[in-house]
Amino acid sequence: MNSVYSYTKEELIKYFSTIGEKPFKADQLYDWLYKKRVTDFKLMNNLNKKVIAKLEEDMLIDNIKILKKDSGKDVCKYLFELFDGEKIEAVLMYHDYGISLCISTQVGCNMGCAFCESGRLKKRRNLLVNEMVLQVLEIEKDINARISHIVLMGIGEPFDNYDNVLNFIKVVNDSKGIDIGARHITISTCGIVPKIYEFTNEKLQVNLAISLHAPNDRLRNQIMPISKAYSLDELMESIKNYISVTNRRVTFEYIMLDNINDSKECALELCKLLRGMNCYVNLIPYNETENIGFKRSKNVKINEFYDILKKNSISVTVRREFGGLVSAACGQLRSHG
Ligand code: SF4
Repeated sequence: MNSVYSYTKEELIKYFSTIGEKPFKADQLYDWLYKKRVTDFKLMNNLNKKVIAKLEEDMLIDNIKILKKDSGKDVCKYLFELFDGEKIEAVLMYHDYGISLCISTQVGCNMGCAFCESGRLKKRRNLLVNEMVLQVLEIEKDINARISHIVLMGIGEPFDNYDNVLNFIKVVNDSKGIDIGARHITISTCGIVPKIYEFTNEKLQVNLAISLHAPNDRLRNQIMPISKAYSLDELMESIKNYISVTNRRVTFEYIMLDNINDSKECALELCKLLRGMNCYVNLIPYNETENIGFKRSKNVKINEFYDILKKNSISVTVRREFGGLVSAACGQLRSHG
């Protein structure tokens, strides 16, 4: 039986038409699920008995279980158990502009980035649409507040679970659904080039972030195996195409690894690579873990790197360090598999 939370609005409209019901029933059901947060079909009192009986026969109102919460200042990491016992994590962060949630898109990840804690567990499976939707719903219930921003940057490579991720975005973005504006949703990829082209053609207002982490192929090959499949030239070509088609700014994520990618030369090479592009760079101080040998760049190196980018007119920020307290940071969530 399908989870009711896995249906986009269009899919629900189709479903209702197959059972001889009008399209507006989809809006009514969305209203119960996402506005009123009702979790029992029987309580949906503007749906008639026949419709309720059919929904009960065809769909499940499921949930995912919060196993553990790990809180720090302005941050909380959630460990969830899925229906088959697999575990995933999501991280909630309180900012002055709102509350953002970083969700997982897969159980494990096959991309093998050398610095990544999440990728140590190979992909076991893609998350279903409802499993992504339920990360949002369960956490909103837990904090009794609405999340304003979603980042698809937890465990997994979103473009390796493309169709489900796109449907998740439709549910989250629907004004009758969870209703988070597209510009408040960011999808992050390590650089699966064909999917960047496909995503470009969707013409969504969703933000695109690229995990770049190195300014040349030699270095990128060392820390991100995906770059052996798609060279930096190919990646940059796909991003330039995205910017010119969508007229949207791209974010480049750059994890600062001590003595690996944080030299002045790397900064200058990065400036050359990004010159003239509608983009900004997010420098991420690495969150060290005991399992992986990389070290966080020293502050003086991060500042130097930042200054070089600034001087070369590249928009740049240094990401606030939420994660240290709870091992929650980009690419550093654990899969408790
Ligand atoms: S950084 Fe992201 S893409 Fe790379 S291994 Fe980790 S989860 Fe996968």
